[in-house]
Amino acid sequence: MFDITVIGGGPAGLSAALYAKRFGLNILVITKELGGSIVDSYSVENYLGFGSVDGEELIKRFKKHCDDFHVEFEFDNVLGIDGENDDFVVYTDHSTYLTKKVILALGTNNMLLGVKGEKEFIGNGIGFCAVCDGMFFKDKKVIVVGGGDSALSTALMMKRHTKDVLLVVREDVFTAQPMMKNLVKDIDVIFDQEIVEFMGTKRLKSVKFKDGTEMNVDGVFIRIGSKPDINLLSHLYLDVDDEGYVKIDARMETSRRGIYCAGDVTNGSNKLKQLTTAVAEGSIAAHSAYEDLV
Ligand SMILES: Cc1cc2nc3c(=O)[nH]c(=O)nc-3n(C[C@H](O)[C@H](O)[C@H](O)COP(=O)(O)OP(=O)(O)OC[C@H]3O[C@@H](n4cnc5c(N)ncnc54)[C@H](O)[C@@H]3O)c2cc1C
Repeated sequence: MFDITVIGGGPAGLSAALYAKRFGLNILVITKELGGSIVDSYSVENYLGFGSVDGEELIKRFKKHCDDFHVEFEFDNVLGIDGENDDFVVYTDHSTYLTKKVILALGTNNMLLGVKGEKEFIGNGIGFCAVCDGMFFKDKKVIVVGGGDSALSTALMMKRHTKDVLLVVREDVFTAQPMMKNLVKDIDVIFDQEIVEFMGTKRLKSVKFKDGTEMNVDGVFIRIGSKPDINLLSHLYLDVDDEGYVKIDARMETSRRGIYCAGDVTNGSNKLKQLTTAVAEGSIAAHSAYEDLV
């Protein structure tokens, strides 16, 4: 029986694990893979104290920090959680774990176009986060895919870095709010168009469109949505918001006693889905679980 089982090995989960371990608790981290979405970043330059560091290196340091405090890891896929306060069962592909508290740090999955070459160039020309990676495309040619609010705001952010921004929208209209549409009046747009292939060698060089035309490009930001994958939480009947993000209170506790949540998967008190908020929420979740255990 673990005191706390943390699900997710991204920044939120690792921060929760470190804090929980330092509270002297018996804890386990179960994660499909180490690092989460930050591993896709070219370079992180907004995490206080680190200057410029690539996402993978940062996660290595997070992991080493956890290892220094003997945090236990299981690399496995969590299929489901069942139970009640102080008596939960976590089911994975390979095992079953008993735990008093659960911290969910599942992150979100960026929705992808599902076309040839796409997965290959994530982090090498294809990105999702203009706040994080926009400055690496200074004066370069950038395509932003999507016609909703997040695509349009990404295009606007990218305009600060380069004049050469093109919005590629699958529909023949924007689905964004009217105010956003007004703001992008000066940005080039192709409606009713889709990328069907990403091409290059190690880095993205060009894209092919559905009409067969090709275009050279330095970067593509795919902003067609990102979604928490919360199927594994179905037995818990947690309250989620309209977009599927898990609702939490100020202590990072969910609607279910004993289940806490941190990082990108939460509806959060603000919408800044970044390392700094994930790490902070992880530590608050661990502290709240600790308070409820002692
Ligand atoms: C390309 C890119 C660049 C970015 N750059 C920056 C940046 O420069 N600065 C910044 O502050 N933020 C950046 N971000 C945002 C930042 O990565 C996220 O805000 C942060 O990683 C969120 O952490 P998290 O722990 O909540 O989720 P994640 O990092 O997504 O981690 C989720 C973890 O949960 C695990 N998991 C999910 N489901 C299961 C399951 N069923 N069973 C077991 N494990 C599971 C995953 O394997 C993963 O380890 C970037 C994001 C992207 C995509």
